[in-house]
Amino acid sequence: MTTKTERGRRALVVGLGVSGISTALGLKRAGWTPVLIEKAARRRPGGYFVGLFGAGKSAAQRLGILHGLHDRTAFDGVTHDIDRFGEWRRGLGFRDIPGEPWLMLRGDVEQAAFHALPGDVEIRYSTVPTKIEQDAGGVDVTLTNTADGGTVTERFDLVVGADGLRSTVRRLAFGPDERYLHRLNYMIAAFQPPGRVGDLALRDGCTLLEPDRSLWVFSFADHPPTVLMGYRTDDVDAEFTEPPAVRVRKAFGPGPTGDMLGAALEALETTDEVLFDSVEQVHMDRWHKGRVVLAGDAAWCVTLYAGMGVSAGLAGADLLGTMLGRHGNVERALTEWERRLRPYLDYYQRMGVRQSAIFTPNRKQIRMRRVMMRGSTMPVASTLLRLLQTHNKSGRMKETDIARA
Ligand SMILES: Cc1cc2nc3c(=O)[nH]c(=O)nc-3n(C[C@H](O)[C@H](O)[C@H](O)COP(=O)(O)OP(=O)(O)OC[C@H]3O[C@@H](n4cnc5c(N)ncnc54)[C@H](O)[C@@H]3O)c2cc1C
Repeated sequence: MTTKTERGRRALVVGLGVSGISTALGLKRAGWTPVLIEKAARRRPGGYFVGLFGAGKSAAQRLGILHGLHDRTAFDGVTHDIDRFGEWRRGLGFRDIPGEPWLMLRGDVEQAAFHALPGDVEIRYSTVPTKIEQDAGGVDVTLTNTADGGTVTERFDLVVGADGLRSTVRRLAFGPDERYLHRLNYMIAAFQPPGRVGDLALRDGCTLLEPDRSLWVFSFADHPPTVLMGYRTDDVDAEFTEPPAVRVRKAFGPGPTGDMLGAALEALETTDEVLFDSVEQVHMDRWHKGRVVLAGDAAWCVTLYAGMGVSAGLAGADLLGTMLGRHGNVERALTEWERRLRPYLDYYQRMGVRQSAIFTPNRKQIRMRRVMMRGSTMPVASTLLRLLQTHNKSGRMKETDIARA
């Protein structure tokens, strides 16, 4: 039984993504000593379009990250709804998104969080956990250096698995991926083209929606756009058997692409860095077991369709720090942390499933969207969004400061 002495203890945080870095900030604030490990040999500062909602902004404020962020929304830009045959209509704009997001890149949040880390926080790159064993007093973790194969076993008072959708911590401490991963049967390719896409003005965005496949160009006020291409598939495993650009081109079929889709496919073929992955959620009854806890995508991946992955990662990190600072007993802190967070994450996950219809609609959903948008008035467009989700509740849940709710 430990109480006050838990404070000032050592925690291993696995994963140097937004959730891991912000968790280290929350732990540090609570008086703990976090040690961060990352599988990659260096930081991954890159990224694609993300929205930061109130839940994330409040947490970012308390974690000392918010001042390093700004809203990149191109308020004077237009989002066009286009097709591959050259027709351009006015589409849904940023103002139709429920809540009041700041639009930015994942890399903005990663960078702001990283720069907020105090200099004395230890970070080990090319390092992964290969064994986790715990008893009532601590967790023994074997760490393997992937560069030289060296291993070391160290004891920690807490282990946080913030190592993403295919978390190793989850596999080692909770069980195999098959038990927790739920495929939504969509693939996405997200990347940053070198500049504007086709004829699209730099501050304009576009959507090209065809049954079960889509192209989105997200514009920013002060940054080149990012591209998201997505499609439905019944065989996720087959999607990983060829290069991303090959699979995406196949998904859009052999027909003529037209200018914009053609330009996006060409940009994908020449880009050095693309996030190509299946869209999957993580469903778990419990996010903690003894002194091992999962956070961010590793625990609750809501998918890009919810638009809440970054905000939830920040909110979870902030609340974890608060709970560990408040409760000397780790188990109690984790239980209370999970109890407070779960209603929000359950909601964001449902939202993630529902909103796949916005990102990559099927034939019927496209037809419905077009009917609603005929006349192209924004109030009508908003009505469509209200049909696809409970607009007000969704906005409220995204904007709520979870730690203070
Ligand atoms: C196209 C796209 C658009 C999105 N849009 C939004 C949006 O609008 N709003 C929003 O909030 N979210 C959005 N998201 C989701 C959001 O980006 C993620 O939810 C969030 O970045 C996840 O952060 P994370 O730190 O939990 O996981 P990750 O970013 O996956 O980080 C995990 C880290 O752990 C490391 N790692 C993995 N395995 C190991 C290991 N064994 N040992 C050590 N380290 C390991 C990885 O290298 C990585 O650095 C979007 C996602 C995509 C793909």
